[in-house]
Amino acid sequence: MRVLKFGGTSVGSVENIEKTIAIVANQAAQSPVAVVVSALGGVTDLLLRAGALAAKKEESYKDILKEISQKHISFTDTLTGGDQEILKAITLQMSHLEDLLKGIYLINELSPKTLDKLAAYGELTSSYIIAAAFKHKSIDASLKDSRELIITDANHTKAGVLYEITNQNITTYFAEKKAKITVLGGFIARTEAGDTSTLGRGGSDFTAAIIAAALDVEQLEIWTDVSGMFSANPKLVKQAKPIRDISYHEAMELSHFGAKVLYPPTIVPALSKNIPIYIKNTMAPDEAGTRIGEQEGSNGNPIKGISHISDVALLTLEGAGMVGISGISKRLFEVLSLQQINVILITQASSEHSICIGVMEADALRAKTAIETEFAYELSLRKIDPVIVETSLAIIALVGESMKSHQGISGKMFSTLGKNNVNIRAIAQGASEKNISAVIAEKDVKKALNSLHEVFFEGNRKQINLFVTGVGNVGAKLLEQINNQKQYLKEHLNLNIRVLGLSNSRKMLVSQDPIDLNNWEAQLDGGEKADILRFRESVINLNQRNSVFVDITANEPVAMAYEEYLRNSIAVVACNKIAAAGKQEYYANLKRLSRKYNAPFKFETNVGAGLPIIDTLQNLIASGDRITKVQAVLSGSLNFVFNNFKSGGSFYDVVQQAKEEGYTEPDPRIDLSGVDVARKILILARESGLELELEDIVNTPFLTKNNLESTDVPHFFETLKEDAAHFEKLVADATADGKRLKYVAQLDNGKASVGLQSVGSDSPFYNLEGSDNIVLFYTARYPEQPLIVKGAGAGGDVTASGLFSDIIRLR
Ligand code: ADP
Ligand code: ASP
Ligand code: MG
Repeated sequence: MRVLKFGGTSVGSVENIEKTIAIVANQAAQSPVAVVVSALGGVTDLLLRAGALAAKKEESYKDILKEISQKHISFTDTLTGGDQEILKAITLQMSHLEDLLKGIYLINELSPKTLDKLAAYGELTSSYIIAAAFKHKSIDASLKDSRELIITDANHTKAGVLYEITNQNITTYFAEKKAKITVLGGFIARTEAGDTSTLGRGGSDFTAAIIAAALDVEQLEIWTDVSGMFSANPKLVKQAKPIRDISYHEAMELSHFGAKVLYPPTIVPALSKNIPIYIKNTMAPDEAGTRIGEQEGSNGNPIKGISHISDVALLTLEGAGMVGISGISKRLFEVLSLQQINVILITQASSEHSICIGVMEADALRAKTAIETEFAYELSLRKIDPVIVETSLAIIALVGESMKSHQGISGKMFSTLGKNNVNIRAIAQGASEKNISAVIAEKDVKKALNSLHEVFFEGNRKQINLFVTGVGNVGAKLLEQINNQKQYLKEHLNLNIRVLGLSNSRKMLVSQDPIDLNNWEAQLDGGEKADILRFRESVINLNQRNSVFVDITANEPVAMAYEEYLRNSIAVVACNKIAAAGKQEYYANLKRLSRKYNAPFKFETNVGAGLPIIDTLQNLIASGDRITKVQAVLSGSLNFVFNNFKSGGSFYDVVQQAKEEGYTEPDPRIDLSGVDVARKILILARESGLELELEDIVNTPFLTKNNLESTDVPHFFETLKEDAAHFEKLVADATADGKRLKYVAQLDNGKASVGLQSVGSDSPFYNLEGSDNIVLFYTARYPEQPLIVKGAGAGGDVTASGLFSDIIRLR
């Protein structure tokens, strides 16, 4: 014989009830089955809500009653082909329910005993309707009221089962009746005095296990809306997978720690008779599901699952008077037990100075009052402080029986949480090491579950979540490159890059789900009005692991927003030079925050676009080298200008062309005055370990005073014409000496400078083409022959790929 239990969703629609019937009929062809059913999906919640409203004298309970009645009548009508007799019986049940609610309304009170009577309507009617549906399909099924079998104590709403009499009732009934299919309502029972009781929310699973154990059946099947017990709640962790095999103890830990798919007490009766429990999906019956049995599963992973409990409060009892005094914890737990307050987590520091306990938030105030009453004397003497209550917390737990023989799991757990900026309030690990729990803020639950799942179950596949600001030319190219490389990164680097946020100067969009990079423009257009700080707030609130803010603007307010990103452990990847080349203090603070909050701050594209210049420099320093000198040509725009400006030509025309072709900043003075190059050498100097400001860079201008004092861009161009002779002389002098003009940045002996130089054919700069950049690093290890990085130093594609490399380096 088998016992099959179908949960609320499995009997939540006519279509699913048809599926349920098919599954049962199929199994009954082989051996007799007991079918335990929950209330029609959502009905228990509705009943309790109606009761609460009625008790508060709110007439609106009638609306809910109407909803419940209509649901039952419409289900009955469809499933029995409008069978009048059955419809009459259900209508009668509903009028009894109406009377009960009216009674609650009149007396303005809802006791636990009445609550049970009320909640029981769900299973009483669902079992009645489902049994009738079997008959309507000419499948022989008998209906049994579970209250006649399962007897409990009078602890209403979560009654304790009296096993002796219950087991006897069950064995006697099934021995006598011998039906092929027996339909029973889950959850409901009866006290010895004959009152209706219930087994606690989710208790239909338990009913099924009680019957299974009493009859010592071959297997117990829990049919639900997911394909098994998952490595984490599939509603919160998309990557979660069903666990094929799991031990009773592991399943018990997981369900205790919030894996709602199985009501925790269910395991006990099954375990006592060693009956395997299968968790199966009514909507996908062919999927394997989970087998819970005696032996632990052998998937090679010491962790079986990760779960969490929400709405937890932490209570801390502390005081100097607790040290070395025996009996404090005894009194503490005794008083909580007397109040029937369930303690779900305990930690005590070895100093004995404080004890910290976790309880459900709903019990927190009651617990505080009870404890403070118990310790009133010690409180009055100030030996113990008032109980501290912290709320809005959750417990997350790693579960697995073989964790005990593996080292480093808790280390990995806590470092993963730490890296993702999840603050841990308390930790508990049972001596059996089946479970490691941590108390964290409720708001961090999803992030914590997903980061832990990634580390322990996804073969270290890392998800990186990008929030990109500035999606002009370079930004668009970056998104295109990411879109093209997505699959490759997954397969070869185990990296899953997702874009969750976009912003340009007009619009912004931040979303929980990845933005489709095939049509991001349209989605962004439909976004809300852009705002730098609101964008940041949304990114922080979204609270995703491995978040990265990508700044592809040249905008100062955006650069000033980095600190708060870093403080929230959100990495910053910037193309924008303003932060790294701004005030030394700001730069140093960003570096400090980056270290403190474990959030990388990367800006490779600040110097030489996609060329690995900063990365090379950082690697040299990290590996113990020392920079002695840097010589570089770092301006693609100035290179373009001086490569194209020949004696006899017009400097004005060349600059005009450079601007038109996008080689210069919109204001070419930023390039031609040397400011842009000065910023770049400043960044290299800082990365070499120097503390410098932009003003410390010696900048010898090649522009005339007249050019430099121009009032705006058109005026500047005018002055270029006016001073044509000056530029002609510069180039003619160089050419006469067989030299070429290059704009060179230099760092030597702690001093940085930028300026135009005439270089001879023996210089590595002499043959520099187009917009190429070159950097020569002279270091302790490369004293004579410098380490050279050379290549295209400007352009949308290479800049985007530099940003992309920075993102990939975050792995
Ligand atoms: P039923 O109505 O069938 O009893 P429940 O809602 O009680 O179903 O339990 C199934 C739900 O449990 C799933 O839909 C899922 O949201 C939740 N759940 C939480 N943790 C887990 C987990 N680790 N594995 C599977 N389901 C889980
Ligand atoms: N109907 C009850 C509840 O919703 C019992 C169950 O479904 O397991 O809690
Ligand atoms: Mg359930």
